[in-house]
Amino acid sequence: MKMNPTYEEYRMDVSCFLKEVVIKNYSSLSKSRTHLKQMWNEAGAAGLFKGAGNIEFGGFGDRQYSLIVMEELGKHLLLDIPFWLQADVILHFVQQYGSSLQKHKYLQPLINGDKIGAFCLTEEHGGSDINLIRAKATPAEQGYVLTGVKKFITSASIADFFLVVARLEEKGENGLAIFLLERDREGITVAPIENRRAMQALDLGEVHFNKIQVTREDLLGGLRHASLAILRGLSVERFANAVLCQEMCEVLMREGVEWARKRNNGRESIMSFQFVSYSFAEHEANSRLTAAFVDTLKQLYLKEKRLQHQDVAIAKYKSISHLIQISTFLAKLFGARTVTGDITNLDILRVHNDAVAQSIAGGTEEIMKKIISEGFSYSS
Ligand SMILES: Cc1cc2nc3c(=O)[nH]c(=O)nc-3n(C[C@H](O)[C@H](O)[C@H](O)COP(=O)(O)OP(=O)(O)OC[C@H]3O[C@@H](n4cnc5c(N)ncnc54)[C@H](O)[C@@H]3O)c2cc1C
Repeated sequence: MKMNPTYEEYRMDVSCFLKEVVIKNYSSLSKSRTHLKQMWNEAGAAGLFKGAGNIEFGGFGDRQYSLIVMEELGKHLLLDIPFWLQADVILHFVQQYGSSLQKHKYLQPLINGDKIGAFCLTEEHGGSDINLIRAKATPAEQGYVLTGVKKFITSASIADFFLVVARLEEKGENGLAIFLLERDREGITVAPIENRRAMQALDLGEVHFNKIQVTREDLLGGLRHASLAILRGLSVERFANAVLCQEMCEVLMREGVEWARKRNNGRESIMSFQFVSYSFAEHEANSRLTAAFVDTLKQLYLKEKRLQHQDVAIAKYKSISHLIQISTFLAKLFGARTVTGDITNLDILRVHNDAVAQSIAGGTEEIMKKIISEGFSYSS
């Protein structure tokens, strides 16, 4: 890849990487974590994590490139390859809040893919409410002792470092903090989650933190009250989800319309049935409205303006629920081909199952509605 490719060149390079490295090897990525990790490292080497990264640390310093990666992942229907987690969410935490030492140690390897990061928030009793976090860091002689178990963590087995959310129990204080810890720290163990029903190429795992000796230097940016930082990181994640899902809706619409036009029951195209064409019309209307809203957020993101929690929650909720609706409609419309895969080259059940899983990741539909409704309590 060129040092400074044009946006179009970059889009072509990203698309080529997704086709040649990800899609061609998809079945081995879903079976082997060694191959999966290698692919993530290659993605970094190919420049896919550079977009929002500071130029000083090897990034492009231009979010348009980040957006291109999100859009291309969507166009290639790759919900289970969350490069945005590394390139935008993990990067955001370290770049925005990291100490100078942490930035110098982690940003370059994060941007060039030498080190893969994971974000550890969710716990067994529930992931929806960050106020219920039980992982805790209690004061000790040298700093703190960190204990907790994190569940459903993306890239858990392939990660080189973890951003861990824990409750900081200090004299009269009880805030949430983020620790940045290397994977080989004594007391950290990872249990991979096998037999996933969706997201086949996503590495999910449970991460145990067993009485880890941590110091203040391990706190991300020394921050002892990181709730706002966590919420802002989650907003970036939800925004990326919305961009991907919106692109996926557009791909499904195109493929679905094309197929329905051609599919003939022996007398006429199935598109001539009013039920079919009106269903497409309904989905087209939803798709365009959601796209227009996601576009306004893209503009804010590009200008490095803060994304409002409510806006991002609306975008995530609407784009994913629309993706689930279209994929359900197409799964029925394709008839038995949904199962056999002939005629259409779209694995619509995979897309549908991944969309359902994605509606949970980063906050469920109910939580998005909860966030949206919280906006009603502010006076104007
Ligand atoms: C593919 C995937 C990748 C993930 N990656 C990560 C990751 O990298 N890092 C990480 O930390 N987590 C990750 N998660 C976990 C994810 O963030 C949680 O699954 C999610 O926040 C929901 O938490 P939960 O599964 O514990 O469900 P729960 O919180 O137990 O929710 C169960 C049900 O109760 C509802 N509910 C819960 N609370 C409320 C409420 N207050 N009001 C109304 N309804 C409510 C929910 O909507 C849901 O329907 C991932 C999950 C998936 C599926």
